[in-house]
Amino acid sequence: MKPMKTSNGSFGRRKFISSFTAVAGLGMTPDLSLSAQTTQPRKAGVAAPGDNHKGACCIASANGLRATSRAMGLLGQGYDPADCIVQGVRIIEDDPNDNSVGYGGLPNEDGIVELDASVMHGPTHKSGAVASLRNIKNPAMVALEVLRRTNHCLIVGEGALKFAVRMGFKEENLLTEASRRDWVAWRASMSGIDDWLNDEQRDAPSGKIWQEPNSEPGKRASVNLQPVPYHTGTVHCSIVTSQGDISSCTSTSGLSWKIPGRVGDSPIIGAGNYCDNDIGAAGATGRGESAIVTCGAFDIVQRMAKGVSPTEACLEAIDSVVKHCLKEKRHRDPKDPSRPDFDLKFYALRKDGAFGGATLFSGGTFAVHDGQTASIVPAAYRFEKK
Ligand code: ASP
Repeated sequence: MKPMKTSNGSFGRRKFISSFTAVAGLGMTPDLSLSAQTTQPRKAGVAAPGDNHKGACCIASANGLRATSRAMGLLGQGYDPADCIVQGVRIIEDDPNDNSVGYGGLPNEDGIVELDASVMHGPTHKSGAVASLRNIKNPAMVALEVLRRTNHCLIVGEGALKFAVRMGFKEENLLTEASRRDWVAWRASMSGIDDWLNDEQRDAPSGKIWQEPNSEPGKRASVNLQPVPYHTGTVHCSIVTSQGDISSCTSTSGLSWKIPGRVGDSPIIGAGNYCDNDIGAAGATGRGESAIVTCGAFDIVQRMAKGVSPTEACLEAIDSVVKHCLKEKRHRDPKDPSRPDFDLKFYALRKDGAFGGATLFSGGTFAVHDGQTASIVPAAYRFEKK
């Protein structure tokens, strides 16, 4: 895939303390031979030049390209790395057109948007998170307040909303017209034996259907609603400074149409987000339950501590997901039971600036700002998409 370039960030390359120095300082000697072997990911079908990158760097899920530029720009202005990524992620949370995060995120099965987010700050090894947060469009900023202003790691539901309001966040409706329509279409398509009528069950109108003046196009329109299947999406963003300080953040509206109160991997430290200032950071997007039961982000960071390259650490974590999650028959692809029927992506950033990403299926990408340019790069993968 051709990398997409954005304008150069203001942040330049700087001298960097090697992660190997730091890892060695922990008494863990990296296995350089393994690291060297694994810079080309197995079955990846793409080179992994990120494993050789050195210096300040920011990576994100593919929807977070703008987040990386913003984060590196703020880093150049001297901000704490956690603030840099949270402000980067904020751009995606504010974007009504990204229906997987923040404002405009697809709602739960009751039609209500519930957001999850976490932030981890390497220098203090402190985390903050919120889950099932309603009516506040920047959950990552609230998570950072949990990190900085409380003795807790995770606040959920009504408590999270109360905390956010107390911290000065404004309550607002997070459901955009597009997300509301998608929810109505999904709800109407759920069953032919309830009181919600799908297109096939309704009679054709005898004329035009009234459109409320000044409404957004399609508002209240009740024809031609296409059912929207379950939908995933999240933004993850990690950063390492030229001094080797790391922070990581993950923010999401979670799986669309989820059971109210369902919490995914994004606010769970060790699952959808983790960082260790001596080693590196990792995050996940996609089916969160699979990242939770495999402790995905923690697993990747521990693999990097043993000297495995970021890309290979992500691939090994993907292997662990395949091994464990295929034990449940509902996760096996009916056409090929050796493959899962869901997708999951992992991202890794090492203390020296090396980075990588891997997905279950080919075609995945992620965003990177390497200190000079923000671009979208291909991710390694375990299975060729059929
Ligand atoms: N990981 C998120 C969750 O499970 C969703 C996603 O990334 O698509 O809540």
